Amino acid sequence: MTIFEKIVSGEIPSKKVLENDDFLAFYDINPKAPIHILAIPKVCIKDFHSADSAMLGKLSEFIQEVATKVGLDKTGYRVISNIGFDGGQEVPHLHFHILGGAKLRFDNLA
Ligand code: 5GP
Repeated sequence: MTIFEKIVSGEIPSKKVLENDDFLAFYDINPKAPIHILAIPKVCIKDFHSADSAMLGKLSEFIQEVATKVGLDKTGYRVISNIGFDGGQEVPHLHFHILGGAKLRFDNLA
């Protein structure tokens, strides 16, 4: 079981931003930007590469809702998904980093 499944079940607490039946968004514990949120499917899918397009479409809409909820639609933001070893993925449960709150440079990627 990944740490994110424990967050979904409530076993590990998190600061939630938005939730629906399929997805959860919560603040990253180690923020790399003034606003750093993770958006995940509640069901564990290993990574972006393993995900099907219908689910990714719904997750994209969810990410847009999250960004709007915290006002990032007005100022801009960055979406990143790390995939596998060279991608720097630490948690093997698909997640998108939503980063904003400052002008981000390309050398401070999450
Ligand atoms: P990755 O490197 O896999 O793309 O990103 C994993 C992210 O999960 C990291 O940014 C890390 O700070 C975050 N993270 C790891 N454990 C926890 C946790 O227990 N709670 C929260 N909120 N974030 C976590």
